[in-house]
Order: sequence, then C-alpha cells, then structure tokens
Amino acid sequence: MKKYPKPRSLRFRLMLSFLLFAGSLMLLLWTLQVLFLQNYYEAMKTREVIQAADSIVQEYGDLDLSKLQEFSYKTDMYIHLETEGGLLIYTTSDTSPRPSTFASVSDLAQIRTLLEASPGGSVSYTVQTRHGIDTLVYGRLIHDSNLGKVYLSIFAPLSPVESTIEILRDQLIIVTFISLAVAFLIAFVLSTRLSDPLTRITRTAGQLAKGKYGVTFEGSGYSEVAQLADTLTHTSRELARTDELKKDLLANVSHDLRTPLTMIKSYAEMVRDLSGNNPVKREEHLNVIIDEADRLNLLVSDLLTLSKMQSGNTALEWGSFDLKEAAVSALRPFELLQEQDGFRISLETEGEDFTVWGDYGRIRQVLSNLLTNAVRYSGDNKAVTLRLCSDANGVRCEVQDRGIGIPTEELSHIWERYYRASSQSGRASGGSGLGLAITKEIFVLHGASYGAESTVGQGSTFWFSLKHKG
Ligand code: ADP
Repeated sequence: MKKYPKPRSLRFRLMLSFLLFAGSLMLLLWTLQVLFLQNYYEAMKTREVIQAADSIVQEYGDLDLSKLQEFSYKTDMYIHLETEGGLLIYTTSDTSPRPSTFASVSDLAQIRTLLEASPGGSVSYTVQTRHGIDTLVYGRLIHDSNLGKVYLSIFAPLSPVESTIEILRDQLIIVTFISLAVAFLIAFVLSTRLSDPLTRITRTAGQLAKGKYGVTFEGSGYSEVAQLADTLTHTSRELARTDELKKDLLANVSHDLRTPLTMIKSYAEMVRDLSGNNPVKREEHLNVIIDEADRLNLLVSDLLTLSKMQSGNTALEWGSFDLKEAAVSALRPFELLQEQDGFRISLETEGEDFTVWGDYGRIRQVLSNLLTNAVRYSGDNKAVTLRLCSDANGVRCEVQDRGIGIPTEELSHIWERYYRASSQSGRASGGSGLGLAITKEIFVLHGASYGAESTVGQGSTFWFSLKHKG
C-alpha cells in the first residue's frame, strides 16, 4: 500500500492548525496589550502633566509651595520652577537644588532652549534618564511681571507602565504556555478520536482489499465516521454475498452444463451400441439427445443474454405495440399445458388502450418468463391469471398464480441470477435460474417499474408497468 508522509496525516495537520491558531491569538494579544498599553499610558500621563502645569500657571500668583510639594510627591512628578536669571522658585528635590534622579542640568537647559524656540510656549517629549528610566518631559513658559520669564519644567517617570508591561508579559507568557498546552491537548484528543477509528477502518479495508469479504468495520467517535463504517460494513457484506453468488453461479453453470452433456453422451453411446438398429428405441434415444441439447442451448443463450444485458451491450428495438397482442402470443405455447395437465391460464383485461412503448421481442420474453415461473411454481392449484389494466399513463401487467409463494425476506433477492427461494432447493424446477435476472434487466432497460408480491402457500403476483408513449 502507498505510504503517506507524516506531515500529511490528520493528527499532524490538526495539531499544527490548533497550535498556529493559539499562537497567532497569543501574538495578537501580546502586540495589542504591550503596544496599546505603552501608548495609552503615555497619553494619560501627558494629559495629567499638562493639567498640573495648567493649575500651576493659574495659581502662579499665590503658589502654595507645601501643597505643590505634596502634589509632586503624590503624583510622582518632579516639578522645577526657575527664572531666566537662574533664580530657583521651586524644586521638588529636597536634597539637592538641582534635579538629579529624573533630569540633569543639561535637560533643564534643553527645555529652556526648546521653549524659546516654541511659538506656543510649551514643549513635551520623552527622554531616557541617566538611570535608564523613560521620562516624560514637559516645559511651559510663564511670564512673571516682576521676575520676567519663568521656566516651568515637569518630569514624570513612565516607569510604572514598564513594570505593568513586565507583569503583563509574565502573565502572557504563562497564558501563552497554558493556551498552547490546551490547544495541543484538544488537538490531540480530537485527532485521536478521529484518526484512530479511521486507521482501524483503513486496516479493515486492507483486509477487504485482500479478498476477505464480509469483514465488519468499526467506527467509534463521530457520527460521520460511524456512518462511514456502517456503509463500508454494508458494502463488505454485499461483496461477500456477490462473491457467494459468483461461486454459486460457477457451480450451477458447471452442474447445469454437465448434466445434459452426460445425458447426451450416454444416449449417444446407447444409440451407437444398442439401439442403432432398433428404429423405435433409436428414435426415443435421439429425442432425449435433442431435448438435452435444447436445454443446453437454452442455458447458454440465457447466460449470453444476461451477460450482454449486464455489460450494457443490448440495444432495444423501440417501438409502439399492443401489449395484449404480446400477451396472447406469449400464452399460445401454454395451450398444450392447459389441455394435458389441467392448467387454467386466463387472460383478463381492464381498459381499452394497451399500446405501450418498448421492445416487443423483449417484453414478450418477459411475459413468457413470468408465465413459465407461474406455471412452474403453481403447485397443486393450477390457476394462473395474466391481467392487463390500462390507464391514462400506461399499462400495468400482472401475472398471478396461487402456488407455493415466496417468503417475504427472499422477495428482494429473487431477481438476482441463480437465486433460488429456500423452498426451491436443487435444480428440480428445470429452469436456468436466470429467468428473473434477465426479466429485471429488460425492465431496467425499459425504465419500467416492476415488483413482486407474494404470500407463502397462497401464491405470487409479478407485475410491471409500461408507458403508452416513450
Ligand atoms: P428459475 O429458473 O429457478 O425459475 P428464476 O430466475 O426464474 O429462476 O426465478 C428465481 C427464483 O424465484 C426461483 O428459483 C423461485 O424460487 C422464485 N420464483 C420465481 N417465480 C416464482 C413464483 N411465481 N412463485 C414462487 N416462486 C417463484
């Protein structure tokens, strides 16, 4: 059997898909959280700083320095107010008059330069301090009537957002691992539930391919797989039955060929050795030989007809004909039976128009087959009725007998070649065993509906209907 590479296996694909899905979800979450948070926090901090600067500017006239100190500690902002001449009005730092942790003297100088250049009198940017802390820097120019230009500088560290991002990152790492593990687990369970029964089914199918017909497919898990298994089991049983029928067919054909051949040989020997000079005996023996040859002929031609029909090599000679006429013609050979063996074979008609569209010769053959069976299986009650009913669409034909009947469970099988109802063991019935199989093929070629109804001990009715026009 062809080997398929592992990357194409269901389990591998399913796991890969799940992992990719979980991975991309996590990636999206990471990017969004980390980027979004950083920007959001910066925007918020900027707003806060501007608000603080606004209120300092507003209250500049009577600034409460201790309140400012408190505010600066609480909000973690470094505030620095210095005049153009270098006079320090206020600074948050209580240890040094110059900013140290957040900003350096050069930062203050830079703010001053930028403020001078800025037309709006305010600047805002972020820097990284000497200690590696990202800091938001904000500058505002205040005009003091006494002191002249006053520079307000506010430094707000952005470190909290960094630590938050760090916490988030840690959590996301855990979430990522957990979600990948869960994705892996789900994919594993799903693929196992799907691939295990499929593998089992494949293994069983391998046995089927090797000719072990009738094997049972087991498909657990999903209903679709179970359905597949059921269908395959059904197929496998059908194959087993067909195989059985094929073997039967071969056995039957060889048996059916052998019997008349043996008879022909023995009777020919008898004519040669014993009855050659006795005209009466010779005549009798030669008649047996002719009868057996006829039987052989019938069997071989039935076999040929059936195989031709089943291989689709039969073309029907379509035409319009009177089914009643075909029925009368099919009944004619049975007249002798009526006279000699007490059969009562009658033709009943209902309606007027019995013209149908089909192949006259084939339909006559069908009628003949059905009548032969009705007579053959009619047991002691020798009444057979051929009924024709016509309606607007077509003609329905029924062949009814009051004979032995067919068990219900076997009704669907009688159309198969060489099938014999259980009540018909042996070849005593004298038919080729192909009659109904040929009949069915003719119905199929005509696209006709057909069927059989039967009750054991009470008789059977075989029917078909043909359309008036094609
Ligand atoms: P056969 O040559 O055995 O009659 P057929 O194909 O004509 O072969 O019929 C198949 C089987 O169907 C018969 O062996 C018989 O068991 C059953 N059958 C057919 N027609 C009748 C009937 N009218 N009554 C009872 N059994 C029938």
